[in-house]
Amino acid sequence: MWRKLIMPLGVNSLRITVMHIICEYTSSSMKDLPYALFAEFRYSLNVGESRSGEYSNVPELKAQWFYRFLHSTYIWHKITHGILLYILGGFSYLAWGMGMGEVVINHSTYFLNSVCHTWGERPWNTSDTSTNNWWVAILTFGEGWHNNHHAFPKSARHGIEWWQFDVSWEIIKFLETIGLATDIKLPTKADKERLKVRLETPNKRSASRMKALQEL
Ligand SMILES: [Zn+2]
Repeated sequence: MWRKLIMPLGVNSLRITVMHIICEYTSSSMKDLPYALFAEFRYSLNVGESRSGEYSNVPELKAQWFYRFLHSTYIWHKITHGILLYILGGFSYLAWGMGMGEVVINHSTYFLNSVCHTWGERPWNTSDTSTNNWWVAILTFGEGWHNNHHAFPKSARHGIEWWQFDVSWEIIKFLETIGLATDIKLPTKADKERLKVRLETPNKRSASRMKALQEL
């Protein structure tokens, strides 16, 4: 109960401060920013009050003691991390290693549902506003190729092109090489052909949705 209350409150207060600073200095020159920040804030609140304790859709994880252990002791990992940082370098280590670390990790994750639905390229004809954003891809180890993800949600690889930076995919490939990952799903040629954006068939539906959202 207390974890559900304290974690969102602490994280959100830091987030509000950062958002305020960004809005203050940049919103006049970037018309999409208020929308993106609002979406991010709304999403972060939703996560704060997410369906905690409801894990009926992950029976394969619940069946393994390792994941049950991680879940039931999660808060102690954080506390131990904080204590170790403080012992190693005092308050500055704690502030940068934990406070700033949490802000960067949380923002990078929430960027997927704000920035990656506002700015970037749309190489695939999906019926939503998802985009590929290279700098979010760097921050999130490949997740920022979000239009790719919406187009091929089962694909283990988010960076579909060779030049699309995707550390997560490299790790999955390594796990496959040593036999720890099998049956890896990737989009087929037919999947790609079906969703490829063609100049003669522009994605009018998502373009109009994007415009409507930005006018909110
Ligand atoms: Zn999305």
